[in-house]
Amino acid sequence: MSKPGRKRPPKGDAKYDSLAAKDDAAATKQRRERADLLQRMRAKTARQEWSPGTVGEDVMTVHMTRGGKALCGAVGAVDEWQRAVSCPACLKAA
Ligand SMILES: [Zn+2]
Repeated sequence: MSKPGRKRPPKGDAKYDSLAAKDDAAATKQRRERADLLQRMRAKTARQEWSPGTVGEDVMTVHMTRGGKALCGAVGAVDEWQRAVSCPACLKAA
């Protein structure tokens, strides 16, 4: 294994633009791009800082809630549910 981002010289006495060298370069590029993608995916999934829930007596409208409050400003006791958000104001706010 080699460190990512480091270009390795081709093995043996092959020319630098040989098929093996291109293979090595492609493997390095692939590894770098995979690391990039993983980083972007982590940033995207960590961004969800709300959870779905209903507010007060209305159990039909599902709001985005954070810290016991709805993002759209609806008032009442928050119940967290794993349901799809249906409040248009919350969807617009996100
Ligand atoms: Zn809402």
